[in-house]
Amino acid sequence: IVSVFLQNSRDLQTTLNILYILSELLTVGGGRRVAVFVSKGGPAILLKLLISASKESPPSEELMLQLHSLLAKVGPKDRKFGVKARLTGALNVTVNLLKQNLLNSKLVLPCLQVLRVYSSNSVNAISLGKSGAVELMFKIVGPHTKKNTTLLKVALDTLGALLKSKTNARRAVDRGHVPLLLFAYQDWHRNDTRQRHMLIRKGLLASLRNITNIKCGRTAFIEADGMRVLYNTSNECLPVRTLDPLVNTSSLIMRKCFPKNRLPLPTIKSAFHYPLPHVPAGGPVAQIYSQMPGVDDVVDDSDEETEADMENDTENEEDEKDCRNDDIETDLSKLRPREIHSRPFEELRVYDKFFLELSEDFQVSGVPYGRTRVDPFKLGVDASTFTSTFHLRHKFYNIYNLYLTSLVHYIEKKKIHLVRVLERVALEADSPLNGGGGGGGGVDEPPVNSTRHIHSPLLVGGIAAARRGGGGGSSAGGSDCGSEGPEEEGPLLEVPDTALLLPLHDPDLYVEMVKGTASVPRYSEVAYPDYFGHVAPTFREPLLERAYGVQRAKIFQDIERLIHPNDILDKVVYDLDIPSGPVIADDGESLKFNSQFESGNLRKAIHVRQHEYDLVLNSDINSNHYHQWFYFEVSGMRVGTDYRFNIINCEKSNSQFNYGMQVLMYSVQEAIGGKPRWVRTGEDICYYKNHFSRSSIATGGQKGKSYYTMTFTMNFSHKDDVCYFAYHYPYTYSTLKMHLSKLEDLRSPQIYWRQDVLCETLAGNSCPLLTITAMPEATTNDHLCPFKNRPVIFLSARVHPGETNASWVMKGTLEFLMGSSQLAHSLREAYIFKIVPMLNPDGVINGNHRCSLSGEDLNRQWQNPSHELHPTIYHTKSLLQYLAHIQRAPLVFCDYHGHSRKKNVFMYGCSVKETVWQSNISTSSCDLHEDLGYRTLPKILSQMASAFSMGSCSFVVERSKESTARVVVWREIGVQRSYTMESTLCGCDQGKYKGLQIGTRELEEMGAQFCLALLRLKRLTSPLGLRTQQHFLDVESDLMETRAKVTSPTTYVMEEDEPSFQEEVDYSADSNDDDPDPDVEASNEPEDAALHLDTLSDCETANHKK
Ligand SMILES: [Zn+2]
Repeated sequence: IVSVFLQNSRDLQTTLNILYILSELLTVGGGRRVAVFVSKGGPAILLKLLISASKESPPSEELMLQLHSLLAKVGPKDRKFGVKARLTGALNVTVNLLKQNLLNSKLVLPCLQVLRVYSSNSVNAISLGKSGAVELMFKIVGPHTKKNTTLLKVALDTLGALLKSKTNARRAVDRGHVPLLLFAYQDWHRNDTRQRHMLIRKGLLASLRNITNIKCGRTAFIEADGMRVLYNTSNECLPVRTLDPLVNTSSLIMRKCFPKNRLPLPTIKSAFHYPLPHVPAGGPVAQIYSQMPGVDDVVDDSDEETEADMENDTENEEDEKDCRNDDIETDLSKLRPREIHSRPFEELRVYDKFFLELSEDFQVSGVPYGRTRVDPFKLGVDASTFTSTFHLRHKFYNIYNLYLTSLVHYIEKKKIHLVRVLERVALEADSPLNGGGGGGGGVDEPPVNSTRHIHSPLLVGGIAAARRGGGGGSSAGGSDCGSEGPEEEGPLLEVPDTALLLPLHDPDLYVEMVKGTASVPRYSEVAYPDYFGHVAPTFREPLLERAYGVQRAKIFQDIERLIHPNDILDKVVYDLDIPSGPVIADDGESLKFNSQFESGNLRKAIHVRQHEYDLVLNSDINSNHYHQWFYFEVSGMRVGTDYRFNIINCEKSNSQFNYGMQVLMYSVQEAIGGKPRWVRTGEDICYYKNHFSRSSIATGGQKGKSYYTMTFTMNFSHKDDVCYFAYHYPYTYSTLKMHLSKLEDLRSPQIYWRQDVLCETLAGNSCPLLTITAMPEATTNDHLCPFKNRPVIFLSARVHPGETNASWVMKGTLEFLMGSSQLAHSLREAYIFKIVPMLNPDGVINGNHRCSLSGEDLNRQWQNPSHELHPTIYHTKSLLQYLAHIQRAPLVFCDYHGHSRKKNVFMYGCSVKETVWQSNISTSSCDLHEDLGYRTLPKILSQMASAFSMGSCSFVVERSKESTARVVVWREIGVQRSYTMESTLCGCDQGKYKGLQIGTRELEEMGAQFCLALLRLKRLTSPLGLRTQQHFLDVESDLMETRAKVTSPTTYVMEEDEPSFQEEVDYSADSNDDDPDPDVEASNEPEDAALHLDTLSDCETANHKK
């Protein structure tokens, strides 16, 4: 009715009267009446009225006042209000009215309130800017005052919204308003001592935040000394928790404006060089090889981005969240597994030699069945020739005698320079080792004597070891290590008797193995942890609880580098890029670093401030990125000092270091004191985007990216200690060789064990292939036939060098398989195991995180592996093709991996049906028939292994994964149960280990449980077990669970094997700054936006809530 009256009224007083009534009506009754008014088209009528009233000259002030008051009331409730206002032309009416009545305090407030609603629409904001609204706001906004604070607040809201438009922001910068905003903020900070005007202070910061989204805004901010202003004000705000939103927004602005730094490196290419036999035609490796010498790849040549670039430069970390899952395979023809006989069988025949158990007649006398004492590693390069020309079982003694000569040959051939006995390891040990049980002892042992001197480096040729406890037994042949003897000169290195504690460890044997390992940097040192070995701690290691404000505190310390430049030392103390050697002589004031040993990774260490070090990781060889794995030694520390370490060139956008994961540390003093172990350590750990810019050469073309910092603080407990830090429990190639040699010793006459050399890697290291099963009970045909028909289980691990946990799981599997229990025996009787325990030895040896020496991710080469560049993949695939050809495709294929972003252990498999379901493509999917057997194994695991989580499993086939082992073995070899098993690097959030970080004990247990699950699978897949299986697999309810879960987007997972997932923490500096798309109507009210910012931009609070 009111509307009708309004539309028809021509008389000013009548109109006003109607408006008064309307105002009364809408004021009482809350939002419901306003909502009705809006739904009946009220705002449009008011806007029309506004337009016609503005045409009167002069317009009635009272009418304008009433109209704006009403509009301010109803506008925010109308989602289309912004568009309606623009289309009717009301924007300019309000702006002009304001311009003419700035001193008319009665009229200004409702006009501003309406303007605030207008400007929340991004298209309006641009148009209002053109009409001078930005300038207008700056006339109202100013220093501290006690008057008109409501007005000021509304003006600031409006200004904040207007400045989201980059054109408006530039206008504000050009007119010099940045210093004005800073001055005003500082003034309010000083005078608002009772914190009554938080909203105004927040509003000022919001405007600064939006202005600094553009480059000239950041420049103006720096020029106006903005860093110091915000740093100082923030520090003063820190003690008051309610001021956190101000501190957080300030921190956000400072991080954004922090001048971009150059990574302190001559090149981002690996410090190690390994020339490839041939360079692939395209891709990142080709790009590296085609890069002109002398090109500075650390920063972009076009570092000075133009404004135009910046306009489109929105941080796209959030893409991960936004993108639809378009990575799911939707091509049904690709989803139907099919055997691809890409190679003729004649070619595959050469692989016969790896399947001797299938042809063996076991009639040979003299040598125990299957006990071929051939250690392929010791045969060096010629091993494969041997295997093909000799029938090893008959020749083993001769060959064994050959090993020494061939090793020497091999070493000379490869020109490995092994340091001879140059130095003795000096050690004054006066406190005896706690004997064999030391590692498992109580928590409080007497402090380690601090007078010991541990020699670093520990040289391969220079180890004079005296093992306490007398255990460990014989050193392997050829060892030049000293034994306990009075004739030895000088003090001896007291080796903890880990050989007693650890059945598969033997320090002497380890050194032997190291000598046969070819590394690109030609390492001559051995890391103490790998040499001594380690036992799992006896105490629990809970996930680290994140202290409130850690990230903010760290960022503030980073900003202090700018504020207090006098504190900066910037002294390089370790640098692999120095030709004469990485260790830089020092006055003893700095810590010493070292990474020159197998699997080591640390490129550079810079002593930045008194107790702070910036660390730079090395890229994978023939690559310019993949910095994640680290393993290095630190010595020269002082006790009772908090040292801060920052790894400054991390690449992933988030890390489990933000969710309770700690780094691993090994103290040599502790080891000598009887506690050789890796422990989770480090305080104040966090991971965040830093100010070191990342060249687009390393990001695949994306500009304006930054690196991330992983920071931790360490307080050492021993003087003169040598400590090691690692991303995860190290597991070197030499360790594998040692373990295999020890495992071989565990054979009993019931075990069939064979160790072959599958092939050589690019650097000439052997890739071992194991065959394990039970010996046939007798050599008669009725025993041999079932023996040869046992289903094959094919396992592999460690294609990704940085995922050392995969090796620990594999160790658990191997130990179980070689065990003497009845279960182990049953398992061996059930299957023939083919195992490639390390698919990427070269990557492991050289401290790579992801790739092989070819600079490529080997788990993306399975579709078309090159025998030259990816030999281990090529030959492993061939083994599988061979098996498929002889109709013996494995029952289960599983590739062990580690996952850096998820907790627990879980599996990825392949299912057509689940892929089709997830993709929502409309196909005749109903008539897809699929055996649900692929779910059995993970389901069994979820019931028996505490670390395993069914909820994290996925059976979707993604396009980006089409060249992974899992998908290729499923699609091309036709293995229905083809899996990737991912173990967390961090810890568990369910099951028995909930809240704990994972350790080698749990990982090895997982490997054993995998074996037990296979035994259970055997029962379920036997003809009698089939019905149980159907019952056991409550697939419907499982699938319902899967459907209910939000599908993880999988497109931004280049560096991850598997779907990435989102965590709640906002780890980046500016992910909330994305401008809304101007074409999309923004319906957010400014208040909402502000609220949103306060909760989301604050990583600390977000995490805290969690
Ligand atoms: Zn992996």
